[in-house]
Amino acid sequence: MLFKQVVGQEDIKHRLIRMVKEKRVSHSLLFSGPEGNGKLAMAISFAQYLNCLNPSDTDSCGECSSCKKYAKLVHPDLHFVFPVIKGNSTSSPVSDNFITEWRELVNESPYFSLTTWLNQIRKEGENKQGAIFTSESSEIIKKLSLKTFEGKYKVMIIWMPEKMNESTSNKLLKILEEPSQKTVFILVSNKPDEMISTILSRTQQLKIPALPQDVIANHLSEKFDKSLSEVTGAAKVANGNLIAGEDQVQMSEENKFFFEQFVQMMRHSYARKVGDLLKWVEEMSRQPREMQRNFLNYAIKMIRENYIMNFKQPDIVYLTPEQHNWSTKFSPFINDNNAMMITEDFALADSHIGQNGNSKVILFDLGLKLIISIKEGN
Ligand SMILES: [Zn+2]
Repeated sequence: MLFKQVVGQEDIKHRLIRMVKEKRVSHSLLFSGPEGNGKLAMAISFAQYLNCLNPSDTDSCGECSSCKKYAKLVHPDLHFVFPVIKGNSTSSPVSDNFITEWRELVNESPYFSLTTWLNQIRKEGENKQGAIFTSESSEIIKKLSLKTFEGKYKVMIIWMPEKMNESTSNKLLKILEEPSQKTVFILVSNKPDEMISTILSRTQQLKIPALPQDVIANHLSEKFDKSLSEVTGAAKVANGNLIAGEDQVQMSEENKFFFEQFVQMMRHSYARKVGDLLKWVEEMSRQPREMQRNFLNYAIKMIRENYIMNFKQPDIVYLTPEQHNWSTKFSPFINDNNAMMITEDFALADSHIGQNGNSKVILFDLGLKLIISIKEGN
């Protein structure tokens, strides 16, 4: 990852580059600051710069053998430690057990929350907490004893060191107290105050601020190919957190998709076009299961809003102008005779899909029930 791929934070980049130029690189650094400020991206691009064979005054070259390996996060002198989850076996896991998933997520975008990471490695419906387990410390020692393969520096990036328990922390402290040559630890933490103070005092802390609203807006506009005015709201809500800003935009994209799906489903059912309904079911059942369930819950909300619209109380209806416009025509079809039944049918379908039922069968069955309920209600 190049510095120029890190969103904003130009001052921090300059400070880090100066540190390298002036040969003042500390052997243990702590990148801190609020979530979504780009700490992890900054740590990776700094590590790449440290090892670049041909760095310029502003960035890594991106072309040398070291940069090429760094770009895929497969450089043999680059190591990662991050929270992981326990499997069914009693032995505690280490980061390297999950390195493939980690590289995949980071390569996609190094801006993600702990929840997103854990969801990447948890099974569906699992709610295991992530931690850096004690076994990780012997793994770190093992890696430090390896000689540097080809890089100028061996770099160990520890993401979320606050997720270490006390015994792991104490072992890490020992390691930090006896630095090995040409090894740089970069701790990347949202909550350094949750780390043990002895580790804190061993590190050189670089406080990375939250991102300004205009920097987030520019990024969102570019990434999602939208005008600045379209993303201003999301950038504002993000409150300095790039991850939150991206979530906002994606959520409204998802809502748009759900709305289109809902309209189609209702149209086919109202018109009793079973063939079209079946095509719709085939499309929807190709979506990830979680997405199907989110759609069903979105539909339940829409049914409710449409039912309430019949009472002509605009202040208790929560719809976007586009949804409102469509619902003005559709709402009479959702009434006292069927609102409850339709809602229950959708909730049941959601629960069956949650229990790993066959989505195609469940959704088609739901569509057929809908045809009947809409007819019965009108
Ligand atoms: Zn390079």
